[in-house]
Amino acid sequence: MAGVAFKSIEKVFGKDVKAVDNLTLDIKDKEFMVLVGPSGCGKTTALRMVAGLEEATAGDIMIGDVRVNDVPPKDRDIAMVFQNYALYPHMSVYDNIAFGLRLRELKGFWWQVTHWGETRTIKENIDKRVNDVAKMLDIDKYLLRRPKELSGGQRQRVALARAIVRKPKVFLMDEPLSNLDAKLRIQTRAELIRLHRQLGITTIYVTHDQVEAMTMGQRMAIMRDGVLQQCDEPEKVYAHPANKFVAGFIGSPPMNFMASKIVQEGSKFYVDATDFKLPLNGEHAAKAFVGKSVTLGIRPEMIFDKNIDSHIKPTAENTITAKVDVLEPLGHEYVAYLNLGQHNFIATIDTGTKIKEGQTAEFVINLDAIHVFDDETELAI
Ligand code: ATP
Repeated sequence: MAGVAFKSIEKVFGKDVKAVDNLTLDIKDKEFMVLVGPSGCGKTTALRMVAGLEEATAGDIMIGDVRVNDVPPKDRDIAMVFQNYALYPHMSVYDNIAFGLRLRELKGFWWQVTHWGETRTIKENIDKRVNDVAKMLDIDKYLLRRPKELSGGQRQRVALARAIVRKPKVFLMDEPLSNLDAKLRIQTRAELIRLHRQLGITTIYVTHDQVEAMTMGQRMAIMRDGVLQQCDEPEKVYAHPANKFVAGFIGSPPMNFMASKIVQEGSKFYVDATDFKLPLNGEHAAKAFVGKSVTLGIRPEMIFDKNIDSHIKPTAENTITAKVDVLEPLGHEYVAYLNLGQHNFIATIDTGTKIKEGQTAEFVINLDAIHVFDDETELAI
């Protein structure tokens, strides 16, 4: 087993496409790390550098204590699972899983003829490993079938089995679930988490889907334009996003942003969004930004219908009045599109609400969960 480390890694394609920009990231032994970010942010390139499929322009890539920049891919002891799992169509499921093992562990034909005893032991060992892993992934019934005789989900599990059976030091997964339908994706997501717990193999998982990142990662690293924005446990990233980009990327529906200013009235400080203002609690660092332009961030789930009991007690200072433009029923909650002066924003509201579209209603904001971002740097204050 081994951790993986990126040390000041740069990757430049051609003359000036900087796909990865000074990436420093430590993935601990046995950790499940998710690299997440929008298309083109450099996450696949980072993963491919660990695999040895791309060469770093600068910096060190470590697997365990070994600098692997110059180690050929086949000697890095990693296994990769891609979105396009590319099984061999003419081989059975069994042979697809066993193929890599045979290639690595069995020597040439004449060696096998002259070492038939050893060859038999190796073949028996491969057979046991293929059967064990097939059972673990619940595909043991299909071992004799060809890939085309399987569903997409079953094929993806064969691809996983092929990677797992090698017991690599590190798993690299690049959007492995994106070919599956929504239901199967959720199911396979849970299966991957369970497998990781069982096997404890260091895993780097690339996705553009923030829900996958939140639910699967022990930690998540959010990238943008090749630059690492934040790396932490999902709950911490959600509660304390480091900047406006991370705040908007993590969470669904996304965080509401409103142009504001920090103002002081007597001894009190407010974040003033023109049409309403909210007090800054306690020792909020934004108090040092009086007069400056900032962005107020409020997550839709931190806005409550005043007439439904919640853990937030309504007060004059945390209550706003807004017009309900649209109310979208999702079954377990409503997504309310609200308007207050120049601001259009979203709230997720409990199904017990009596609010109707077109009506004006009062909403309570959790003041402990508001975010303020410096407009100059976009960093959270
Ligand atoms: P996606 O989710 O769309 O796969 P990504 O975050 O994985 O995106 P990368 O594939 O790592 O992004 O690409 C990062 C940047 O590097 C992009 O701007 C991309 O166009 C560029 N890039 C990637 N591979 C090459 C290449 N072989 N030659 C030139 N530019 C490349």
